[in-house]
Amino acid sequence: MEVTCRCGWTTRGSKSEVISGIQQHARSEHSRELSAAEVRAIWRTVHDGPAALRKSGS
Ligand SMILES: [Zn+2]
Repeated sequence: MEVTCRCGWTTRGSKSEVISGIQQHARSEHSRELSAAEVRAIWRTVHDGPAALRKSGS
């Protein structure tokens, strides 16, 4: 998963990681509280190929 904020900030990780990550970013950088639904509305899935999917732990 990869999520890019409107400000250009990007985070990667599992679904739960990107949700918590962008919620923390929004809180600290934009003084906003994003719900999980709002996070899903702005995220985008990045397909780097099958190999990338196996590296989710790194
Ligand atoms: Zn931002």
